[in-house]
Amino acid sequence: MKVFVDGKYYDEWNAKVSVFDHGLLYGDGVFEGIRAYNGRVFKLKEHIDRLFYSAKAIMLELPMSHAQLMKATVETCRRNKLRDGYIRLVVTRGVGTLGLNPRSCRNASVIIIAGKIQVYPAELYAKGMDIVTVPTVRNLHSAVNPAIKSLNYLNNILAKIEANNAGVEEAVMLNAEGFVAECTADNLFIIKNGALSTPPLSAGALYGITRGTVMDLATKMGIEVSEPNLTRYDLFNADECFLTGTGAEIMPVVKIDGRVIGNGKPGLLTRKLVENYHALTKATGEPIYG
Ligand code: PMP
Repeated sequence: MKVFVDGKYYDEWNAKVSVFDHGLLYGDGVFEGIRAYNGRVFKLKEHIDRLFYSAKAIMLELPMSHAQLMKATVETCRRNKLRDGYIRLVVTRGVGTLGLNPRSCRNASVIIIAGKIQVYPAELYAKGMDIVTVPTVRNLHSAVNPAIKSLNYLNNILAKIEANNAGVEEAVMLNAEGFVAECTADNLFIIKNGALSTPPLSAGALYGITRGTVMDLATKMGIEVSEPNLTRYDLFNADECFLTGTGAEIMPVVKIDGRVIGNGKPGLLTRKLVENYHALTKATGEPIYG
């Protein structure tokens, strides 16, 4: 595997960052998880847009332009002969002193890894997933805004540990007010009486690229889409529920905190959305090869 680090390509065992990089020392940086399907990078522009928004929010000056980042991402896929895979684009604050002040970091570092990902066991896509609400609440938007896709994922990791302890794959995270925010690495949707809803960004959800894609697909299918505050009660009484993420794609949820959702099987509208999502990923995106 060839890994892009600051404009050069290194063999994977040789692709390194400094122990003084503030990305490592403080989780100071931003990232994107992107996917390639069928020789195209899906929603690349949207991912690079979001990277710029995250960087702006933490006052991190990206050392490459939007066009350069798009080009380097595609080129990294090409050099790795990737047709279907997962791309991790990381920007760290760069090398600095041991203190946390980002002013000591002169140059941000850009890393692009083009590999594979399997976030959940394959059989769960057919069966549906069992999830639980966990005690760790989602970061306050007035503290570390969950809209920032930062390298500081401890909030999510603590929730993931609680999901592991409960013997399930994913956790529902509530915000400090008790409304549903999102899962540790996925957005959450419910369907009730044929209408789709997902928590608003103000509840502590990431502006997920898959979330946006699913909302567009649903609108095109004539499904009503809204972003209300949701409580656990709304989840328990949903007809259908699913998670969305670049890595996860669309994962049906069939049980939440022991309550069976709908008839306990992936719902009809969920399955239609999955089908339309796969069709879109296959047919659109930034071409890697010519
Ligand atoms: N929420 C969180 C916390 C995430 O890390 C992610 C990305 N894995 C998502 C939601 C889903 O976002 P996207 O659809 O852009 O991958």
